[in-house]
Amino acid sequence: MKKLLNSFIAVLALTLAACGTSEPQNTATGGTFKGTGKGRNADVVVEVTYTDGKIENVEIVEHSESAGISDEAISTIPAAIVESQSLAVDTVSGATFTSVAILDAVEDALTQAGADVESFKNKEVVSNTETVALEDATYDVVVLGAGGAGLSAAVEARNAGASVVVVEKMPYAGGNTILSYAELACANNWLQKEQGIEDSPENMAQEMWEGGGKVADKKMVDIVANNALEAAEWLKDEIGVEYQDYLVWEGGHSVPRAVEPVAKGPGMINPLVDYAKEHGVEIMLNTKAEEFVVNDEGRVVGVKVSNNGQTATFTATNGVVLATGGFGANVEMRDRYNTRWQTLDASVLTTNSPAIVGDGIVMAENIGANLINMEHIQLYPFNNPLTGVFYGIEAPSWSGEGLIYVNKDGNRFVNEVAMRDVRAEGILAQGGTAYAIYNQAVADRLNLEEEFAEEYARCLEGGVFYKADTLEEIADHFGINAENLVATMDKYNEGIKNNNDEFGRTTSMVTMEEGPWFILEGVVSVHHTMGGVEINENAEVLNTAGSVIEGLFAAGEVTGSIHGNNRVGTCAIADITVFGRIAGKNVAANK
Ligand code: ADP
Repeated sequence: MKKLLNSFIAVLALTLAACGTSEPQNTATGGTFKGTGKGRNADVVVEVTYTDGKIENVEIVEHSESAGISDEAISTIPAAIVESQSLAVDTVSGATFTSVAILDAVEDALTQAGADVESFKNKEVVSNTETVALEDATYDVVVLGAGGAGLSAAVEARNAGASVVVVEKMPYAGGNTILSYAELACANNWLQKEQGIEDSPENMAQEMWEGGGKVADKKMVDIVANNALEAAEWLKDEIGVEYQDYLVWEGGHSVPRAVEPVAKGPGMINPLVDYAKEHGVEIMLNTKAEEFVVNDEGRVVGVKVSNNGQTATFTATNGVVLATGGFGANVEMRDRYNTRWQTLDASVLTTNSPAIVGDGIVMAENIGANLINMEHIQLYPFNNPLTGVFYGIEAPSWSGEGLIYVNKDGNRFVNEVAMRDVRAEGILAQGGTAYAIYNQAVADRLNLEEEFAEEYARCLEGGVFYKADTLEEIADHFGINAENLVATMDKYNEGIKNNNDEFGRTTSMVTMEEGPWFILEGVVSVHHTMGGVEINENAEVLNTAGSVIEGLFAAGEVTGSIHGNNRVGTCAIADITVFGRIAGKNVAANK
């Protein structure tokens, strides 16, 4: 292993901006005060020790924020408030909800303490971004992006003996992967065997390929399907991901086929990060890849990176793995490439992390990489209109259960378990908003009210969810034609019983006869960009002439070779893990 040339020091650079505002005029009294703020999942409760106009200590005593993405906010914001004596602390991008909840809770506590809250708020914004002292360095392998693909590649490269650094521009690892449920489709898995479900990698490949409009290169799809089970077993047995004992059944699969980590996205990313670090992979957060360094022969030999105004070059002796994800959060790019949907301008929300803006695609294009399938952009059909993010409480649509979508007229319009593009098209044809309805029996079978108690409460308060005893009541609540809704539900049940669904549903054949009823309001959101850099079966990046760009590998959503014009649900995690591992092994061997 090569000697690492840099030893970087993490410095917490709290820019304690001297501010023009006067010192807070606070009461001379003091004590410890509890305050609450609304978090993503539940109230965040803090205890603030406040004495003689000074915030002595901020401690988070209760929260239910998801592990992973909110960790950064939880670990940095209280310290930043104390250090800066300010409530004008930068929120952590990607964890805005959690950041704001902490700030609100501290404000609440300070109000109770009788402090001059406004003066704490009126300071200049304080940055709580961690700064890494950058120096030029040499590694065998440089991985760009610490999502599922990048971390899988990093671990495999490291286990093959390479020195590896992962460069991640955000203050946390995980990208879109940590925001997902990390469901991984794999044929012949341990749960299918237990449940006697017949399946094969050939069926999975065929369904992925057909689901993607037969646009993808079938041999690339075969690689994902043939290696998905081994990838899931690797995550479970080698990395330590803990899986649920049930299967997930997304539209486009003929059988229940996907396994899901108990702790969903964080349940995959956190063990990968821990494993990587324990095995000697360096993960540099807050560090952005800017451009490739290419030698005279056209080989990628390194990457220029930046952190808070500093720049450095990381030389990659064996090669670079590009794993920076797609471009779903880049409004300009998705609007420019989109040919299918009426618009993907800023009026359409996204389920993506704000980091997923196509950096790596542009970097690769700049050195001649071939971009393919860029026009194919997937909309997730049904999301919370307040956030653009999918609902956990829409689980009946991927659990083989009952659920129908209706429009304002109270009529169904699509097969609710069809593939995502079909459902998204259906919802857009209703003007972009639809309502999902299921009953108590469905919620009980999936244990939804216990598992998602916080989400139900939050959505009820936000006005996007309602529960009532009768169909008429849920219809009235959202101004839906109640008479039609009752007739729609009768017709749905008849169709299911007679195996003759009006919209051709052949799976999730579950009747819903009795209330109470649950209703969610939903809109489409940009979810996945199928296009990206072209790779071959070795995860090597190809140029526009079809030749390999030496020294450059890619895996995950940044690539455009796997999913055609529509990614079948739960196949992304299979893809990023399979091709992440292939990229990692091959770059390590690329001496
Ligand atoms: P995948 O599913 O392909 O692994 P993810 O969205 O999960 O993709 O992860 C991509 C990661 O790449 C994210 O953590 C994102 O913050 C990171 N990233 C994106 N652009 C850059 C960049 N320019 N430099 C470093 N990291 C980046």
